[in-house]
Amino acid sequence: MTETWRLGRGHSPIKGGVLTLAFVALFLVHWQVSVFLQTFFLHRYGAHRQFTMSKGWEKTFHLLTFLVQGPSYLNPRAYAILHRMHHAFSDTPQDPHSPTHQPNFFKMMWRTKLQYEDVKYRRVPIEPRFDGGYPEWPLLDEKLSNMTIAVGWGALWALFYLAFAPHWWLLAFLPFHWLMGPVHGAIVNWAGHEIGYRNFDSDDNSKNTLVFDVLTMGELFQNNHHKWGQSPNFAVRAFEIDPAYQIMRMFGALRIIDMSGAQKSRWEPREARTTRAGAAAVPPALALPAPQDGP
Ligand SMILES: [Zn+2]
Ligand SMILES: [Zn+2]
Repeated sequence: MTETWRLGRGHSPIKGGVLTLAFVALFLVHWQVSVFLQTFFLHRYGAHRQFTMSKGWEKTFHLLTFLVQGPSYLNPRAYAILHRMHHAFSDTPQDPHSPTHQPNFFKMMWRTKLQYEDVKYRRVPIEPRFDGGYPEWPLLDEKLSNMTIAVGWGALWALFYLAFAPHWWLLAFLPFHWLMGPVHGAIVNWAGHEIGYRNFDSDDNSKNTLVFDVLTMGELFQNNHHKWGQSPNFAVRAFEIDPAYQIMRMFGALRIIDMSGAQKSRWEPREARTTRAGAAAVPPALALPAPQDGP
């Protein structure tokens, strides 16, 4: 195949350029909408219940997640259970996806996949503390989530590209459209516990990878999120921007979601924390002596 793969079939170069841009835009929009639904619906709502919404809105976002993630749709129940285990066992051998306990990225993802399938298909008992409180929709999560449907979804994406993509190299986007959910999970699970800076000391290896998370809509503030697990805002410092939270503020203003009872994350400089902790630890040196009994 050559650069003129499709241009030779009657497309003008200008039309080809516009089409190429349209395909790049399609890929970027699919990436962002998909990762937004993952962080907003599956993670912050489904796994953590950081805010509330009506049943109608819950169904709307559930359906949107199913349609946008398509062939790699992540089951909200399995996602929530695995994710709650990740918080409870962060970077220990029981963590479903810890880069510090796996020899490489692919082994980590393979282990996560196997554990995810065990939970999704109910092959393993679930500790009661990790179970319940997540969105469930048997039609989408069970009946319409199988290999045949996934292959069908994948074929639709492929046919669309084969019919309209003006350049063969655009086909490189196809695997990402097919595996959007796990690709985002892999980036967050690996980089978020391997690369970046820390605002909070913790027993795990969680990191904040980007100060403006343009890649995964705020998911890469793992260190902040492990400290303030119930806060819908994953950014805590003045220079940090959590894009999903900005959209959620808009949803809040439009009364689509209610964050009024949500946890508020905060950050204070390490010195302030150290001083306060030190002050609490030192016995009161100037305390008045206890009154003596009289002679
Ligand atoms: Zn984490
Ligand atoms: Zn979480």
